Amino acid sequence: RKPVIAIDGFSSTGKSSISKAIAARLGLVHMDTGALYRAVTYYALNHCVKNHEIDLTCLFKALPSINLEFRNIEGTLVLFLNNKNITAEIREPEISGFVSIIAKQPEVRSYLLDLQRKGAAAGGMIMDGRDIGTVVLPDADYKFFLTASVEERTKRRHLELTNQGVTIDRMAVMDNLVTRDKIDSERETAPLKKAPDAVLIDNTHLNKEETISLITSYIKE
Ligand code: C5P
Repeated sequence: RKPVIAIDGFSSTGKSSISKAIAARLGLVHMDTGALYRAVTYYALNHCVKNHEIDLTCLFKALPSINLEFRNIEGTLVLFLNNKNITAEIREPEISGFVSIIAKQPEVRSYLLDLQRKGAAAGGMIMDGRDIGTVVLPDADYKFFLTASVEERTKRRHLELTNQGVTIDRMAVMDNLVTRDKIDSERETAPLKKAPDAVLIDNTHLNKEETISLITSYIKE
């Protein structure tokens, strides 16, 4: 049976791109769970805004009718919301600005839990998020928790957004990272934290390739 690997950590520590590369190398499926929270946020911003605020009652009522589905397209799990590929839309800074408020709602978390667990049931999965090692897959074969300095993470995210053609000020990027980490760490349900049995990796001074090598060095094939 292929392993189940949980990768958690702070925003912009490279969790998703590192997980994707490890999946390709070890023949695993990669699930980016942040995409689910971003997709629910995208739905809320499009369907449940009243007086310039997200109406949570509207969102909770709509949850059962939101069809979120990961489709395996050439080995990559691509997220569809009501049959629409929303990969690009959920990366917008507006979504990043609201997502932690949506992700701290217990109703939203419990709605997304099954979807994540079902994905890993067959093994051969690397899943990245904030509560994978603690809540979603407490029995994962391997757990890692990534961190890096705020300055380094800001630099990486700013570069990534600039490369995507998004014009945004560095301070705005830093502010979003810090705010999200704070809300994610302080929420009551499934807060962002290292599982006691996760390996802590600070990659402030490691590039992507070095982080991948370090993680894979723990994995027995
Ligand atoms: O990973 P990404 O930065 O795309 O995640 C966006 C947000 O989704 C996080 O800031 C957090 O609020 C939420 N999230 C979560 N639990 C996860 C993955 C993401 O609460 N497992």
